[in-house]
Amino acid sequence: MNINNLFNEKKVVFSFEIFPPKQESNIETIYNTLEELKDLKPDFISVTYGAGGSLTKNMTCEISSIVKNKYGIEPLAHLTCINSTKDNVDKILDDLKNQGIENVLALRGDIPADYKGEGSFRYATDLITHIKGRDDFNIVAACYPEIHPDSKSIEDDLLNLKRKQEAGATHLVSQLFFDNNYFYNFLDKKEKYNINIPVEAGIMPVINARQIKRIVSLCGAKVPQKFLKIMNKYEFNPEALRDAGIAYANEQIIDLISSGVDGIHLYTMNNPYVARRISEGVSSIINTINTCENVANK
Ligand code: FAD
Repeated sequence: MNINNLFNEKKVVFSFEIFPPKQESNIETIYNTLEELKDLKPDFISVTYGAGGSLTKNMTCEISSIVKNKYGIEPLAHLTCINSTKDNVDKILDDLKNQGIENVLALRGDIPADYKGEGSFRYATDLITHIKGRDDFNIVAACYPEIHPDSKSIEDDLLNLKRKQEAGATHLVSQLFFDNNYFYNFLDKKEKYNINIPVEAGIMPVINARQIKRIVSLCGAKVPQKFLKIMNKYEFNPEALRDAGIAYANEQIIDLISSGVDGIHLYTMNNPYVARRISEGVSSIINTINTCENVANK
């Protein structure tokens, strides 16, 4: 199924992200995670590519195939292009196609420290154009409510996004953020650039202090004072910190849904307990909104 259809069928799309285990020998762990995630009935599950090191790249196709063919949930396979040759990319696209996978999140990937300009693609748009030229995959792309760290300005960032839309991306998934105001500002600004494909808000529940330091150093998301206070207050009480992190993410999601967001993409960190707690907290409002929308459309 082309997951872009979901945005016509539902007022709010609710999806999950998982990542392959760091070692191929641990592949069983992701199956245990999926066993639990399937009961939460996400609209689709995205599977990262190489984000935990190149060893995991081979597993994206295999896990996406299991998501689709064993659990009956639509997968969105991530694919990065920096440092890759056209042949590498074509081989992966062939594998995905052979497994019946129809949706690809086309990304540049982070530039390796020793990058010297090798590879066939420079930007995500190059990959989107390449895929569009050879296959009928539905293509999704990334966006950054707090601007991509390599962009010189918000204008450059939005012009890039516009290029992704023009090249064929049908929806956007956002980088995680902790302050909804950044997301709302971003939505306002992108309208002015006629970027009108649906945008899912990326939400990551933070459940321990180590995680927050890592996230901030990796993606530069700003942490609001309110959130820092919670982290400091429960620093030495792991259970309270976890519960407070889940409550904070739930609050963020409910505020986003009430403001009319197209979708929520939950970075599950392969933690079904946290995904369950979040789903329990937000699914009744999502179901109510989606049911009202269906009634209104009849
Ligand atoms: P691009 O859209 O190519 O943009 C990168 C930078 O280049 C931006 O600053 C942009 O403004 C600039 N730019 C683009 N085109 C041009 C141009 N023509 N001229 C000048 N400047 C230009 N990484 C992984 O390794 N694996 C994953 O599975 C993964 N999943 C992700 C999922 C999501 C939802 C998000 C938000 C990120 C993910 N990432 C993943 C991280 C991502 O690869 C990095 O953020 C990467 O640095 C940028 O990727 P992009 O596709 O957004 O790049």
